Amino acid sequence: MLQHNKWILLLAWLAATAQAQPAATETNLVLVTLDGVRWQEVFRGLDQRLADNKDFNLLGEALTTRFEAATPQDSAAKLFPFLHTVVATEGTLIGNRDAHSCAHVTNPWTISYPGYNEILTGAADLAIDSNEAKPNPNVSFLEWLNKEVAPFKGKVLAFGSWDVFPAILNSERSGIPVDVKMKASTAGEDAQLLGRLSADLPVMWPAIRYDAFTHRAALQALHDKKPRVLYIAYGETDDFAHDGHYDQYLLAAHRTDRFLGELWDTLQSEPQYRNNTVLFITTDHGRDAEPLASWQNHASSASLADHQKSLAAYDETSVGADAVWMAAIGAGVPARGPIATTSCAGSNQIAATLLQLLGLQPKQFSAQAGVAITEFLSGLPLLAQVNP
Ligand SMILES: [Zn+2]
Repeated sequence: MLQHNKWILLLAWLAATAQAQPAATETNLVLVTLDGVRWQEVFRGLDQRLADNKDFNLLGEALTTRFEAATPQDSAAKLFPFLHTVVATEGTLIGNRDAHSCAHVTNPWTISYPGYNEILTGAADLAIDSNEAKPNPNVSFLEWLNKEVAPFKGKVLAFGSWDVFPAILNSERSGIPVDVKMKASTAGEDAQLLGRLSADLPVMWPAIRYDAFTHRAALQALHDKKPRVLYIAYGETDDFAHDGHYDQYLLAAHRTDRFLGELWDTLQSEPQYRNNTVLFITTDHGRDAEPLASWQNHASSASLADHQKSLAAYDETSVGADAVWMAAIGAGVPARGPIATTSCAGSNQIAATLLQLLGLQPKQFSAQAGVAITEFLSGLPLLAQVNP
């Protein structure tokens, strides 16, 4: 009889775990990065001092005045309406340093490849200290999902505006298709037109395709291929900033916010994704805050000393580029809105946070990865919000 009871208990336990498993892995993930978008613009909106500076506002005032408002919060809401209406109501946002909310990259370089490596692998790698397109020796959580975790195997797709992403995600080893270029040969009328347009438009930056193309290609793939995990890396915000076009930087940021809204609406309109998809949004680094003109730059002094000695003009200006922000909405993400953080969240904790939201054990992916950020997980206690 005792033996019989043991079998019943074992069967009950198996049934319970079998039930828990599929439920946990039904969640889909869309990870989005906006290259080099500062927390200052995300939470304070337009910086009037930069907007008034004719050196940085080359298109004239007409395009940027629409982001002006009586308070920084109102300006931020005009610049990023999706983040400040939809995510702020139904999701969670961190990184507003004015409101005791802190997020940062833990790598010392504060440039792009090290930032993306940290987000995607859950750990900063000191050896990745440049933006050179070398195949990443580290395994990203996307690669782990694509190769090792049954429900996600072969169902991870990536789209980027920067042509270094195939190296960052080590496309060859990970098997993740990383789309960074339009192809006129792609099937479908829309895809062919986009491919032709892409080839016919003036080239702004040789290594970057316009975000509009990245966005269209990703939306099309979401519809046609139904990936379980989708990564979209928008890029032109950073390039306009490096070029010193504050106006274009703001317009690109505003455009990307609209892309996020379209992406969210698309996810909510597709039965496979509706109410069971996490949308997580962040940036790979911040930008310098002081002195004012240094906003174009973000490489740390350590990085400059090491690799970019020719940019000596910026040598002492790297202040605050490690400061980033994070936003999430969707399945399992609490509706906490913009909140204070209990401690400064690291970009090296994003991988674990997303794996946990997918119902997986982050430690099975990597013992080195930072732990999940509790602010983005339901049911975990937080300190009360502190007002600035
Ligand atoms: Zn970057």
